[in-house]
Order: sequence, then C-alpha cells, then structure tokens
Amino acid sequence: MSIETIVIVGAGQAGASAIIELRQHQYAGKIILIGDEAHLPYERPPLSKDAILNPDETKLEILSPQKLQDLNVDVILNQSVQKIHRNEHVVELTNGNKIPYDKLLIATGAAPRRLPMLDALGKHVYTLRTLEDAQALISVLQPKQRLVLVGGGVIGLELASSARARQAEVTVLEVNATVMARTAPRLLGDFLLIQHRQAGIDIRLETEITQANIENDHIVIDINNAEQLHADAIIYGIGVIPNAQIAIDAGLDVDFAILVNENCQTSDPDIYAAGDVATQLRENGQYRRIETWENANLQAGIFARHVMSIEQPKANPAWFWTDQLGFNIQFAGDMTVTDWHMINIEDTKTAGPAFVIYGLKDDVIVGGITVNAARKMRAIKKMITSQAHFESLIETA
Ligand code: ADP
Repeated sequence: MSIETIVIVGAGQAGASAIIELRQHQYAGKIILIGDEAHLPYERPPLSKDAILNPDETKLEILSPQKLQDLNVDVILNQSVQKIHRNEHVVELTNGNKIPYDKLLIATGAAPRRLPMLDALGKHVYTLRTLEDAQALISVLQPKQRLVLVGGGVIGLELASSARARQAEVTVLEVNATVMARTAPRLLGDFLLIQHRQAGIDIRLETEITQANIENDHIVIDINNAEQLHADAIIYGIGVIPNAQIAIDAGLDVDFAILVNENCQTSDPDIYAAGDVATQLRENGQYRRIETWENANLQAGIFARHVMSIEQPKANPAWFWTDQLGFNIQFAGDMTVTDWHMINIEDTKTAGPAFVIYGLKDDVIVGGITVNAARKMRAIKKMITSQAHFESLIETA
C-alpha cells in the first residue's frame, strides 16, 4: 500500500523532527501537523534558562513558517485530537473536523505532574512546560522575591540557578535524600548540592509540603509538619505524566506511556509514538521511556525510516545535558550503575571545577558525565560503544 498521508499529532520536538526526517528520507506524500498550542514547534530546553533570563535574544523556533512551507506541511494549530478512529484511519479534532491518515505519529509529549494542594491555592503557583509558562516566570524570577521551588530535579535546579542569577531568594524542597536522583548518580547529585548551596540556594532534602495557604497575598507553607516558610511564589517541577489519553481511548497498549516496539510502532502497526509520550522496547528486551530532547529526535528518525522501509542505524548511548550555575553538564549511557570514578581535567580554559565521571560495570565504561568538559563527550560515547575498560584509560592517561 502506498502511503499518501501522514498525520503527526503534537507540534513539539518529536513532531518537528519527524517532518524533517520524513522529507530527508524522500517521503513525497502529504504531511499534516496538528498541535494544541498556538505556536509552531519550538525548543523547550531554553525555557528554564535563556527564555526567562534573555527572552529577546533567545531563538526558540525549530521550523519557521517558510521552512514548513518549503517542506510542504499542512499545519493545524490550536486544535487537539479528541479521538482516533482506528478502523476508519481518521483522527477527530476538537472542532469536529475529521482528518484521514495512512500512518499516524503520536508525539503529544507530557504534562507536569500536578500537586493538587498547591493548585488549590489558585495564585502565585507555577509549573513550567510551555512558552507561556516561561513568559509568566519572567516577572516571578525577580530580585528579593521569595521563591520556593518544589522538586530538586532538572527543572527545579535549572530554575533555581536562573532565579539566583536574578537575585531572588531561593529555597528548593526535595523529597529525596539528594538532588537529581532520577537522572544522575549520587556523586553528581552531591556535587550539585554543594554548588547550589554555595550559590546561596537553600536546598532542603527529605522535605515535603504538608500544608499550604495564602495569607496577605503571599503563600505560607508548612514543611514536614515542623516549620513554616513564607513565599511570594511557588514553582513546582516534580516530574511529568505522558499525554497518552488518546492512545488509551483508542485501545492501544499503554503502560503509563504508550508502548512502542523497536521501530516506534504501537500495538496498531499504522500508529507510531515518539518522544516523552512513548516507552520503547530497547535492545536489552525492556521498555524504557527517555525524557530527553535527543530521544525525541532519535525516535522521530526511527519512525520516519520505518515508514520509508529504510534500515535503522545502530543505537548510540543515550545523551542529555543540563546547564546550572555556569556548569554545563552532559550525560551519556547508563546512569543507574553504582561504581563511579572522577577524573579532573587540568587544561581547562574554564574557571572552577571541570571533570569527567566514568560509570563502570565490572571495569567496563558504561556511562560518562562531563562537567564543564563537553569536548570529552565524543570520546566518552566511543568508549561506551566499544566497551572500553577503565583500567586501560587510566594506563594511557
Ligand atoms: P522534572 O523534569 O520535573 O524536574 P525530575 O524527575 O527531574 O522532573 O525531578 C523531579 C524531582 O521532584 C525529583 O527529584 C523528585 O524526588 C522530586 N519530588 C517529587 N515529588 C515531590 C514532592 N511532593 N515534594 C518535593 N519533591 C518532590
């Protein structure tokens, strides 16, 4: 069967990347992009940083209107898909319009996990996912503002760093015994904890909000039933929930996220999923959802190649980065191992610490983290792929 129409639901990183990949792989049919935001696809990584600190100089656009025209894409914004009619191969929009597809890509991303106790306050409470969320934070991250950030993960720490740059008074509440626990090993979490505290950020570990009220137009919270904090605003980043409802309603296999095979195909072979909304069958036989910019791009590529019957390349180690307090930190490979070794980088041009941490499994390098040492990343990825031994690295150093 020839493929005449591909519909992409979700105008984020994965959706945008899928368009580029499809055209690069000579797909000549119709592409229809449907997004529920008012914007064309934009970059999300800067939203916690430059989009707040330097909004005028920060370019977020992934695909310009001209580029989308050149790529011959029909774009429908401000509309979400309400229902997938699988038998008819049709998606139904909020406005009732029905759009036929031969192949469908669900790239709907994820939404912040909600904290109802804070949402109930009705004002001075923020989360960060969209451009509008970032724009709303510009007036919140201001000098002397008392900000409480709930969650010491990627969003919490990047925002803490941005808020400090604006001379706000920042407290971070983290329920775990360290920061960045989902994404990074303890060694790095402990390093970041020290750095943030030295930058004047009050990080409270093993801490939860037990009560929250508004008094005299500011927020009063009880933490661990033991202490009260006063805040002008609270921003929370406690993880995300995949936007998988249309897949659930359509009867696709969903386990928190949409289950996809190695080709990003769902349990319906004409429907694919990519990005934060998908959990993919990996080489080790296990499903894994990876919430990164790179993964959205990679899965979009896998989708496009599969649709065009092009062979998939070998997988590279997973990669992501964070920028905090002037540190550029990059991660590759397996972050779940427990054996980590730090090597300082001497000849750096950067002021302050610069180092690499290697994650080992039986002396084989399976993961690597660079702190202000991005130029080492390419070599680290190679070491992971070639299963290099840490011992031989030390010997040649
Ligand atoms: P995000 O992308 O939202 O930053 P992460 O998973 O990187 O997501 O980080 C979320 C952080 O929030 C984790 O460190 C987690 O331990 C923490 N967390 C989750 N629930 C709470 C809570 N109720 N109060 C404080 N911290 C929380």
